[in-house]
Amino acid sequence: MPQLGFGVWQVSDEEATTAVGLALDAGYRSIDTAAIYGNERGTGKALAASGLAREELFVTTKLWNEEQGYDSTLRAFDASLDKLGLDYVDLYLIHWPCPSKDRYVDTWRAFEKLLADGRTRAIGVSNFTPAHLERLIGETSVIPAVNQIELHPHLQQSESRAFHGEQGIATEAWSPLGQGKGLLEVPALVAIAQKHGRTPAQVVLRWHVQLGNVVIPKSVTPSRIRENIDVFSFELDEEDMAAIRALNEEHRLGGHPDEVG
Ligand code: NAD
Repeated sequence: MPQLGFGVWQVSDEEATTAVGLALDAGYRSIDTAAIYGNERGTGKALAASGLAREELFVTTKLWNEEQGYDSTLRAFDASLDKLGLDYVDLYLIHWPCPSKDRYVDTWRAFEKLLADGRTRAIGVSNFTPAHLERLIGETSVIPAVNQIELHPHLQQSESRAFHGEQGIATEAWSPLGQGKGLLEVPALVAIAQKHGRTPAQVVLRWHVQLGNVVIPKSVTPSRIRENIDVFSFELDEEDMAAIRALNEEHRLGGHPDEVG
């Protein structure tokens, strides 16, 4: 899986075709969408128009909460694949655990079938806490390849990252830029950016890369799309990493995994 990909939350179906096209031109090969984003069709159009070979692309989509359950998962997967215009996806994720529904174990069994049938190359989860993961791992056969969680300098998720490390699960950061607002103006980040002749967004993405996180920043602005992938030719030093570590506030932008759904 490419360590840096392109996210398309809050991008309309039409806009997704343009934005994903720009991202593919800029060199991104991994695209993160979801059934609930309503832009799988627009994303698929851009993939088809790119002329890139299927095996060069890494496409992730996600099962929405209402579709959890064995049979409904299989149906929802078919619908996503049809909208994307693909024969398989590279990664299929359970979007939220929704513990109050208590259906994520059954849902995962359908994911295991999709994996065995070759319809997705890998299966994973999103927004699972270590407790949700422990139950899933205890009751099913395949360990999730990935857990996509909210993660940025204001919410550093050290407990989840350590648990994923022990289990061999890749940590993928959603809202890796903290959705842009506020975070990118934090003086410590601005200072590190000036020191390296980079932007605060590049510094934050580089911090993720050096921690080993998979990142999927979103932008519909052409210059930012290019800026966000250009983070592999500079390095943060120990002092920079420590200064960013000190920004943790346990501040969530999204819902708590025990409460959503
Ligand atoms: P993000 O942290 O990627 O921030 C995106 C925003 O930051 C943009 O809308 C823009 O306002 C700003 N921005 C982007 N690049 C910038 C730059 N170079 N300079 C200045 N500002 C910049 O936020 P996100 O979209 O919430 O998260 C990224 C992706 O993560 C989503 O598109 C989606 O694919 C995924 N996601 C998943 C979940 C989940 O529950 N699994 C939830 C939220 C997001």
